[in-house]
Amino acid sequence: MQLFNWRKLLGSMTALGMLSFSSSGCAQDRVTADGEEEAEAIQLKYDRQNDQLVADLRGKGIVNEAVLKALRETPRHLFVPESIRDSSYEDNALPIGLKQTISQPYVVAYMTEVLQLAPGDRVLEVGTGSGYQAAILSKLVSKVYSIEILEPLAQRARLALDALSVDNVLIRVGDGYKGWPEQAPYDAIIVTAAPKEIPQALVNQLKEGGKMIVPVGKGDLQWLVLITRENGTTKEKQLIPVRFVPMVHGSEN
Ligand code: SAH
Repeated sequence: MQLFNWRKLLGSMTALGMLSFSSSGCAQDRVTADGEEEAEAIQLKYDRQNDQLVADLRGKGIVNEAVLKALRETPRHLFVPESIRDSSYEDNALPIGLKQTISQPYVVAYMTEVLQLAPGDRVLEVGTGSGYQAAILSKLVSKVYSIEILEPLAQRARLALDALSVDNVLIRVGDGYKGWPEQAPYDAIIVTAAPKEIPQALVNQLKEGGKMIVPVGKGDLQWLVLITRENGTTKEKQLIPVRFVPMVHGSEN
């Protein structure tokens, strides 16, 4: 399946330092043609692996077709460091540098499904990381606001999203504990790093009727908590045990 513009992607991958072509005279065309063929073969391989991953997620209980389609149409390998790219379609979290991780696809799908998103929604994400979760959200809602505390990760995520022509994700470098009040309130908030307690400033930026999903706790003792805001009050529901990197405070960096 042709999912996106190959020439544009190759150009962006080169900019990201993912590919390097030699640049001498007429050898260039041949090298570029070989490069394109090779890239297409790799893409076919990853397409098949992504089909299998999505089938596995169905087997693990993900039922929302729009969520499954978003995962199927998002090339996770573009959000993973080149050295471990062949593991991109295994259902595991993977290291992305600076002691951070790209979340496990099942957890990405589960958290996204739980939010019951609608196409017109505006969503806040805390913890951009690789940008993969933001890319999934971008296919399901109208606007994604994503905050990342580590600037190099925010920059790399931006490049990966640009390579896929994702234009409805805004990324800001900052401390997610404060949220993004200028754009509030949000239909949904997804937190992808674990605070020890539910950050009240984020709950306050949720719309009436909105939903927030957040992993709460420390170390191995974290649970995904779903918060819903109804009639001015909030309800909390503990869902499943998870393991996320800690959500740090601005001063800890
Ligand atoms: N959603 C990401 C996974 C994020 S890993 C993805 O799809 O790849 C958690 C991220 O949260 C890390 O990049 C970490 O730097 C970031 N983070 C931790 N504390 C934060 C804070 N207070 N504000 C914003 N980002 C934070």
